[in-house]
Amino acid sequence: MQEIIDRAIKHGWGYIGYGKPAAYIPELSKVNPNQLGISVIQINGENWNSGDYEAKFTIQSISKTVALIMAVVDRGADYVFAKVGMEPTGDAFNSIIKLETIKTAKPLNPMINAGAIAIDSMIQGESIDKKFERVLDMFRRLCHNHSIGNSEQVYNSEKATGFRNRALAHFMKDSGIIEGEVEEVLDLYFKQCSVEVTCKDIAMLGAVLAGDGVSPVTGERLLPRSLTRLVKTFMVTCGMYDASGEFAIRVGLPAKSGVGGGIMASVPGKMGIGVYGPALDEKGNSIGGIKTLEYLSNEMDLSIF
Ligand code: GLU
Repeated sequence: MQEIIDRAIKHGWGYIGYGKPAAYIPELSKVNPNQLGISVIQINGENWNSGDYEAKFTIQSISKTVALIMAVVDRGADYVFAKVGMEPTGDAFNSIIKLETIKTAKPLNPMINAGAIAIDSMIQGESIDKKFERVLDMFRRLCHNHSIGNSEQVYNSEKATGFRNRALAHFMKDSGIIEGEVEEVLDLYFKQCSVEVTCKDIAMLGAVLAGDGVSPVTGERLLPRSLTRLVKTFMVTCGMYDASGEFAIRVGLPAKSGVGGGIMASVPGKMGIGVYGPALDEKGNSIGGIKTLEYLSNEMDLSIF
């Protein structure tokens, strides 16, 4: 196994020169683009790592999976999906177009920015700080890492420049999708995107999903099976932005990427995989990360299809 993942990283490394870190959040453009790392955690807890697997990065859109879990736990699936759809978009992750052109004004799914912001407005808590504490607590439990926190620099950078996300949120407030104060909901969203993790943390999250909600470390049930099924299905259809179709064909795994350069993948019944490479392709996915996963999936015949 160690040998295979070392080779996968070497393969992925050959592509990172073709990508570059996200620049629209100024703080993200400062990272070293030449990093690439991977962690693999089996559902029995066995694990392997290679490359820059200890590097910290912000979780960004991978957090949308955890926010979805919390909203469904807090409000129930019927409530959540009355306001957010279940269909892929074919548009960029931060696109506004479908909010206006589709009659219901519902964001199409919880994995795009509009959907995730709507989802955040459903998370319960007396204040934004309390809500974020609950979100952090869920991250810590699912990633089995009690020291997980967030990057204030990245949070402030996104808060200062997140005009498009503000536009999405105001649009949805106008159409009754978002409850509560727009700036407060956005604050929770920016905070949750700035949570700092390593490949190991997201591999653990992928492993919990792979094991239908059971912790690979303690054997404790952390999530109901139905919820892990829901999240993994969204990861297949919408997890890699508007490249989800190609990723399903080339890699064939439920996965969620973030513009920080992370990709969390889950191999049902087998393992979680976390990869990190901040050089992104034009769709916003880690270019080396995708190639690493593609290599691994082909070598080990991991595709679920
Ligand atoms: N915080 C980022 C944004 O809202 C997350 C995007 C992403 O990772 O896809 O633009």
